[in-house]
Amino acid sequence: MKLLEEKVLAEGIAINENILKVDGFINHQVDPQLMQAIGEDFAEHFKGHGITKVVTIESSGIAPAVMTAAAMNVPLLILKKSPSKTLNAGLFQTVVTSFTKGNSYELTLAGHLISEQDHVLIIDDFLANGEAATGATRLLRKAHATIAGIGILIEKSFQPGRAKLEEQGFYVYSQVRIKKLAEGNIELLTD
Ligand code: 5GP
Repeated sequence: MKLLEEKVLAEGIAINENILKVDGFINHQVDPQLMQAIGEDFAEHFKGHGITKVVTIESSGIAPAVMTAAAMNVPLLILKKSPSKTLNAGLFQTVVTSFTKGNSYELTLAGHLISEQDHVLIIDDFLANGEAATGATRLLRKAHATIAGIGILIEKSFQPGRAKLEEQGFYVYSQVRIKKLAEGNIELLTD
């Protein structure tokens, strides 16, 4: 997606060869016009797939995912990283290891919000090792929902996430693919 590629090149900060900081427009401050364009791009890409819900993981996926859900006219379901006090019975849970923080968290979904009738699109900000997205698919499968695909804003193509998801049979669409990062330098993968 041209707009996001331009933004990443202009404002993304490669802090080392593994991590890209996008605090100015996705992770800390959010660019709402960009999020709207991102949502419209996902909606266009996954048009006609019979998607009933968009699913994301709190918290950085929420802004692009809500715009995607709005553009598709379906609800957004947010997977929680820790069970809230008001969620209790009927929870689906799975442990995920965080790429950026190196720790683990329990991804949680309330069973009454999803069913085997649902065909979902998973949206996340980054794809690195594919742990977060795989965790999301595990939870959705526990609920017997089906998965239309995984939409990613920024894929670091030199890390194994895409291969891991494709091996499991999932379709992955990434708006921006990064070939290589080095301190202060971002190289895109273009086809
Ligand atoms: P994965 O589970 O694919 O290894 O990592 C994906 C998650 O880690 C994303 O949800 C994102 O929050 C975080 N993440 C992975 N790589 C980066 C990165 O380079 N920059 C930022 N800001 N977050 C990242």
